[in-house]
Amino acid sequence: MGDVIQSEANYFGDCPECGRNDGYINIGRGHWFVCHKHKTMWFIGSNLFSDWKEETEEEQRNNFDLLGLASFKRVEPWYRMGKGENQHE
Ligand SMILES: [Zn+2]
Repeated sequence: MGDVIQSEANYFGDCPECGRNDGYINIGRGHWFVCHKHKTMWFIGSNLFSDWKEETEEEQRNNFDLLGLASFKRVEPWYRMGKGENQHE
C-alpha cells in the first residue's frame, strides 16, 4: 500500500473512532496519519521526518490517489496517552 509506514507510536495521536492508526503519509512537507478503516486522517506537522525529501511530487500524488485520501475525513486525533487535554469522550 504505497509508502505507508506502520507505526505503533501514538505520540501523534490515533484515530478517534478506533484508537489506532495505519501509519503516516507525506503530502508535500506535511505528515498525515491515517486510519484506512474509518477513512480518517489527521495532520501531525511538517518537516518532522526526512523521508519526504526522497519522494517526488508524482509519487506523493500516486500515494494520495492509491489510498483514496481525497475521500478521507480530516479529524482531530485521539491521544491515548493524554497529551494535553484528553479529547476522547
Ligand atoms: Zn479508525
